[in-house]
Amino acid sequence: MSAPERIGIYGGTFSPPHCGHVRAAEAFAASGCIDRLMIIPSFLPPHKDYRPEVSTEDRLHMCEIAFSGIPGAEISDIEIRRGGRSYTVDTLRALSAPDRELVMLCGTDMLMTLDSWYRADEIFRLCTVAYVRRENSAEVLPLLRARADLYREKYGARIIEIESDALEISSTEIRRELSHNVAPSLIPREVYEYIQKRGLYR
Ligand code: ATP
Ligand code: MG
Repeated sequence: MSAPERIGIYGGTFSPPHCGHVRAAEAFAASGCIDRLMIIPSFLPPHKDYRPEVSTEDRLHMCEIAFSGIPGAEISDIEIRRGGRSYTVDTLRALSAPDRELVMLCGTDMLMTLDSWYRADEIFRLCTVAYVRRENSAEVLPLLRARADLYREKYGARIIEIESDALEISSTEIRRELSHNVAPSLIPREVYEYIQKRGLYR
C-alpha cells in the first residue's frame, strides 16, 4: 500500500487575503508535512459577526491571485458551493478518504479557540492540526504549545508546529485602511490592483 496523500487545508474568510496569509501558507507548503495545499475560503464564517462584504467570486479570485506563487497550492470552492454556515467539520468530512491524511493550518487565534468550534472532538479525529503564530515575537509560543498539549491530553489530538516569521497583519486592519483610502503595505500588489480595479472595501 502506498503512503496516504497528505492534504494541507488552510481555511479562512480571506477578505482580503494578505501577506500574513501568504507567508503562513508558504511556510506550511515548505514544511515537508503536506503533499498538496487546499486554500478554502469560507462562505459564512460561523464564529464571526463580520459578514464578508465582497462577493464570494471576488474572494475566490483574490485568493487565486494571492496564493498563485505557492507550489502545490490550489483554491477550493467547496465551502462556497456548500453555502450556509461554513463549519470546518463538514469540510473535513467531505475531504476525508482512506488514502488521505488531512492537515489543517490555524493561526494563533484559531488554535486558541479550536476546542469551542462546532464538533471540535470530531475535528481532532479527522485531521492533524498544524499551527503557526501570527505574532512577531516568539513569546506566544509557550502559550500555543501549552494549548496543543491540552488538546493532545483531552482529545488525543495530533498537532504540529509550523515555524514561520510572522507578519503582524489582519484583514480587518487592511479593510480599515482601504476604507480610509490608505494603500495597505502588507497585501500582495496584484491583490491590491484587483481591489482598486473592482472598487472593493470602500
Ligand atoms: P479578519 O481580521 O477578517 O478576521 P484575518 O486576518 O484574521 O481576517 P482570516 O481569514 O480570519 O484572516 O484567517 C484565516 C486563517 O489565517 C486563520 O487561521 C488565521 O489565524 C490565519 N491568519 C490570519 N492572519 C495571519 C497572519 N498574519 N499570520 C499567520 N496566520 C494568519
Ligand atoms: Mg480572523
